[in-house]
Amino acid sequence: MANHKGRISTRSAEAFAEAKKVLPGGVNSPVRAFKSVGLTPVFVERGEGAIIHDIDGNVFIDYVMSWGPLILGHAHPEVVASIQRTAASGTSFGAPTLIETEMAKLVCERVPSIEVVRMVNSGTEATMSALRLARGYTKRNKILKFEGSYHGASDSLLIKAGSGVATLGLPDSPGVPESTAVNTITVPYNDLEAVKLAFERFGEDIACIIVEPIAGNMGVVPPQPGFLEGLREITKRYGSLLIFDEVMTGFRVGLNSAQGLYGVMPDLTCLGKVIGGGLPVGAYGGRREIMEHVAPSGPIYQAGTLSGNPLAMAAGYTTLKLLGEPGVYEELERKAARLEEGFRANAEEFGIPCTINRVGSMVCPFFTDQPVVDYDSARTSDLEMFARYFGHMLDLGINLAPSQFEGMFVSTAHTDEHIERTIEAHREAMGRLASG
Ligand code: PMP
Repeated sequence: MANHKGRISTRSAEAFAEAKKVLPGGVNSPVRAFKSVGLTPVFVERGEGAIIHDIDGNVFIDYVMSWGPLILGHAHPEVVASIQRTAASGTSFGAPTLIETEMAKLVCERVPSIEVVRMVNSGTEATMSALRLARGYTKRNKILKFEGSYHGASDSLLIKAGSGVATLGLPDSPGVPESTAVNTITVPYNDLEAVKLAFERFGEDIACIIVEPIAGNMGVVPPQPGFLEGLREITKRYGSLLIFDEVMTGFRVGLNSAQGLYGVMPDLTCLGKVIGGGLPVGAYGGRREIMEHVAPSGPIYQAGTLSGNPLAMAAGYTTLKLLGEPGVYEELERKAARLEEGFRANAEEFGIPCTINRVGSMVCPFFTDQPVVDYDSARTSDLEMFARYFGHMLDLGINLAPSQFEGMFVSTAHTDEHIERTIEAHREAMGRLASG
């Protein structure tokens, strides 16, 4: 069966049919099902560096990179070795281990606003726990988030969410109680006026603003100059906390994360993805005075059987150490900039509408001529054209996220040759789109 245009994907199709018998929609996380692009998902057999192999023997240059964590590429030898070494001594104890403190020190050292950090097991857990802390600390119930931002799948945050929720065109999720939803205020990203109005109305009740300092779940949307500074100022004025959700941007856009890049310091920061080196990790941290409210030092409860898991700590620690070597982020910037430049030239050559947003190694081409500054402008992208583009790129050996509302992630394992091959494939895809 030639499902992905020219590619044979018989085994993936069979595997998907089997999976659907026992997993909802055949997957353990929605966007993986390729539903919005109308194709059968690729079942991955293995990965090495920038490459993945599927179970039909197809080979792809990968820009999903497990949705961001694999900034060093698949199966980085040093990361794998650290996991193997650690596993040989036991996989979990539920007791303190030295690596947890080492890891926390590294995070505190590098993320400027974090003095104390708590490890959890996913980004969802990190944001959910940070919200509880913000609410407990301020003794307020409401939160403010931005339309098209995704902060994980917990109740309070599944309101006007991005990522898979946007991809599948779902309204706010059934199952989120109305009594929870009323406490979530949403306004457009990059719209300080809307934030001000919301605070004029509800300011005394707002526990926190939670924001992706670079939005990465409505495609990539950078903060406009003054936006993050404005959020800092407003939250300070009203006694609310500012939470940066850096689950995607943390250690992705720089060693000091997005807060280092823009020089704006939140009260709390959520981390995930890169800090786990491909294993399930999240973290939330911030000023000591706030973090001391978390149990057991304070009354705000949060816990986890596998939190601080030795394997995850080892993979994360090794990843962060390697990211600290000189020139890593400069190289990522150079390669991603070349990708952006090549894509733009290709789209122009074939007269395909194109706006490319990029911050460091997060790259996102939209099929629109308009600037993309928020969720509404992201939705001006031609989604039908995106679906065809996605299919062509897959056919040409490039694995992208199957959604317009996700970015591409360049890793240190992407060589100049991978980048040039990707630009060539993109040119071919633009040609195919132009000829209908
Ligand atoms: N916050 C942001 C900004 C994210 O991008 C994501 C995941 N894409 C999450 C939170 C949730 O993280 P996880 O999928 O690990 O629960």
